[in-house]
Amino acid sequence: MSAHLLEAVDLTRYYSVSRGFMKPKATVKALNGVSFTLDARKTLAVVGESGCGKSTLARQLTLIEAPTSGALRFSGDDAAGAGKEKLTRLRQQVQMVFQNPFASLNPRKSIEATLDEPLSINTKLSKAERHERIEALAAKVGLRPEHLRRYPHMFSGGQRQRIAIARAMILNPSIVVADEPVSALDVSIQAQILNLFMDLQQEFGTGYVFISHNLSVVEHVADELMVMYLGAAVEYGDKKTIYARPLHPYTRALMSATPALKPEDRRERIRIHGELPSPLNPPSGCSFHKRCPLAIERCKVEVPRLREVEGRQVACHVV
Ligand code: SF4
Repeated sequence: MSAHLLEAVDLTRYYSVSRGFMKPKATVKALNGVSFTLDARKTLAVVGESGCGKSTLARQLTLIEAPTSGALRFSGDDAAGAGKEKLTRLRQQVQMVFQNPFASLNPRKSIEATLDEPLSINTKLSKAERHERIEALAAKVGLRPEHLRRYPHMFSGGQRQRIAIARAMILNPSIVVADEPVSALDVSIQAQILNLFMDLQQEFGTGYVFISHNLSVVEHVADELMVMYLGAAVEYGDKKTIYARPLHPYTRALMSATPALKPEDRRERIRIHGELPSPLNPPSGCSFHKRCPLAIERCKVEVPRLREVEGRQVACHVV
């Protein structure tokens, strides 16, 4: 069996933070043992509130930071302990699209120069070959040849995100990590950008990790769903299985808060109370127990482990 495009095994990232003068440092468990796989032409959606560990996960996957422990394999190739050369090679395989297309493009560079930079650094293509590749990809993301001479401020938010997507795809990466890629855009533009992601995925076979706080945004693009809470996955599996019948109380609460277009899809509202606890001082037992409407005594003392329930993995004592 061939290796997965991406495999995370027990990925963990702790940060040491200062608590003030003369006080011992505290440890924040920003990512606490996350495991998943991603294959070509598949999309894993990672969903949760801000502070749940999504951005820490993105930094690990894009090799910006090394994990504290755990393994990260790209087509079977382990990134742990990789030297500079190997890291450079692996980094080319995984590119990122950010939330804010206004901030992620250099205002002083034309679109052609923005798209040319990764090619001239990482390939041996001639100027003419690079230009050809840029024009071809620009057309695929919906830009015209004359757009290449223009600068980011001359484009709308949706067009800028198209440019950012082209920049991520120009080296033909096997994986793209997209961090809230449509949440800064008008709702009317969001569907166009999501469709563009899906078209490019079909054409290039890219695997996506799609990070979002919004379950309705990822419903149409995801193949698999991972719901995260305070640095850990609480429910993980096939998207259709989870949307049809979410089991973890946190997933159910998130889903019931998501507006459904069809009346038959509307769910009974499950309200959770309070804020996401500080990762500096997480609750004992199940980290969700202070907000969970189904909590029992056991939840206060025992951490629930992910286990197989009805065709997906869930970390909860009562399901
Ligand atoms: Fe709620 Fe307990 Fe399940 Fe945690 S383990 S989600 S507190 S019922």
